[in-house]
Amino acid sequence: MPIQILPDSVASQIAAGEVVERPASVVKELFENSIDAEAKAITIHIQEAGRKLIEITDDGAGINESEIELALSRHATSKLRSAEDLQHIETLGFRGEALASIASVSRFTLASRSESAEMGAQIIVDSGKIQSIEKVGLPAGTIVRVRDLFFNVPARLKFLKTDATERRRINEFVTRYAIAYPDVRIQLFQEQQTVLRTSGSGNRREVLSNLYGVDTAKKMLELQLEEENIRLTGFTSPVALTRSNRKEMTFFVNGRWVQDPALSSALLRAYRTLLMVSRYPLCVIFIDMDPAEVDVNVHPAKAEVRFRQSNTIFSVVQRAVRRALLAYSPVPEISSQKFWQNVPIQRSIDPAWDLSRQGHATEAASDTETSWEFSFDDSQPAPEPHSVSGDIKPPSLIPQGNMPLLRLIGQLGATYLVAEGPDGLYLIDQHAAHERVLFEKFLKQRETIIPSQALLEPVVVQLTPADDQILGDKLDVLNKLGFQVESFGPNTYQVRAIPAFLSGMEPAQAVRSVVEDFEEDETPLQDEIEAKIIARVCKRAAVKAGQTLSKEEQSALIRDLEASQSPRTCPHGRPTMIHLTVGMLEKQFGRTGSL
Ligand code: ADP
Ligand code: MG
Repeated sequence: MPIQILPDSVASQIAAGEVVERPASVVKELFENSIDAEAKAITIHIQEAGRKLIEITDDGAGINESEIELALSRHATSKLRSAEDLQHIETLGFRGEALASIASVSRFTLASRSESAEMGAQIIVDSGKIQSIEKVGLPAGTIVRVRDLFFNVPARLKFLKTDATERRRINEFVTRYAIAYPDVRIQLFQEQQTVLRTSGSGNRREVLSNLYGVDTAKKMLELQLEEENIRLTGFTSPVALTRSNRKEMTFFVNGRWVQDPALSSALLRAYRTLLMVSRYPLCVIFIDMDPAEVDVNVHPAKAEVRFRQSNTIFSVVQRAVRRALLAYSPVPEISSQKFWQNVPIQRSIDPAWDLSRQGHATEAASDTETSWEFSFDDSQPAPEPHSVSGDIKPPSLIPQGNMPLLRLIGQLGATYLVAEGPDGLYLIDQHAAHERVLFEKFLKQRETIIPSQALLEPVVVQLTPADDQILGDKLDVLNKLGFQVESFGPNTYQVRAIPAFLSGMEPAQAVRSVVEDFEEDETPLQDEIEAKIIARVCKRAAVKAGQTLSKEEQSALIRDLEASQSPRTCPHGRPTMIHLTVGMLEKQFGRTGSL
């Protein structure tokens, strides 16, 4: 056969294979055109999974009557003028292929009116051949109707999956774009049934529940990071929320949904060691950057991109996600669709930080436990757990409440644990932390029956007469707490059992710890006595300063502390940790601002 240039209609059909693979790709191209036309409302009707009908109506800029035929020609675009423009593409489309391709493999109608025109125009195309162009009346905007997709390319039809699958792909696409464009009012109908409807209010979290359902959506962590001229926003799942596949990891770059294995792996790296094997996070991440820094002209479907500074992007993704994960420790169960907020602690200065009292920063008179409340204020975004403050302040007491997930660095002076948090460095007092952990275990068990552990041999404890008096008064409390202590003659007691969770502790010491320093006590309420005794016992049982801990013990302590309700103070109100924020560190090292 002699060589010849293919007729345009044939060339279009060949090209169409790359652009329009399935109904969802038609929806994608048309939807993107509407976004490029700055539509504020987009309505999509689908019939028979898109095989029979795909119709998209928008209220965007519209097409001039004089250009309507041109719009359907191959390589006809209003979004690109020169090869140079390819270097910084700010629209979703730019190849000028979609309409021509779609029209070549369907029965196609496009009607459009620009705001300024009095009448609109409608063009009807069948298998790429223009049937008619005529004036029509319609509201400003564009309607594209694609009927009988692939009717003239049976090979394509054969490759389509089941209706359910094709429908799902369309829904997935539109839902994700709805999150990316929360300002646009989007409606999607399948067989006249509403599948998705967004208000155009601009609230992404609201739209998020369309994708994941309300329960999951409200658990998603909000991401926000601006670094190196890259802005990252979006949502990612807390570590407790995972899927068995990678499908729920969605990335948008400059408003375009991209499939990029490297972005996914950056995400997974941020979750490393936090997720079980073959569990994957969910995310919808939006990366906005200088269009010149990203090449979107890699593939006709424009789903792949190349970054000029890929390493920078990946580390921004990792940092943003890691930071969010560390900042939001396992999210508390929230019964309403709102975010948590903690109530400010009552005490303004902790005795430990009151310099005038240094040296005897002893236990505060009573515990100031912070109460928790869930806020029901919808307008409130999730609070930034720790703001990066530029001011140098003395290391601050962290507000009571949930603490971030920490990464253990090691032990310092056999007394402190050093850990990395979402926003800087944490120094943890191992003794105070362990006290807190034991205290809460005890309190938790108290709701049921505290298991006690019988001693092989009863132990006899001898006390001073003063202490004898104190202990004698508190025997029933002690026995409720899992001890078995009974009087054994003057100033003497016999210990038969101790609470199981103190099993490592020397029994006599456990009992003694109860009476120590009790003298100054007035007559507190029964509940307070119990709490006090518990706190005292925990203090005794806790690891001491100067005690070397194995790596496992260190990590276990941090994990246990994270799981505590009030991890930031010991039962006596002293801080368990000091937080040196990134902001403080940067300031101290002269990296930001001036000193
Ligand atoms: P591209 O989007 O790559 O430019 P298309 O074939 O998708 O190519 O569209 C061709 C042209 O038709 C666009 O450049 C645009 O000017 C116009 N057009 C397509 N769809 C719309 C729409 N919904 N609203 C306004 N103009 C549109
Ligand atoms: Mg386009």
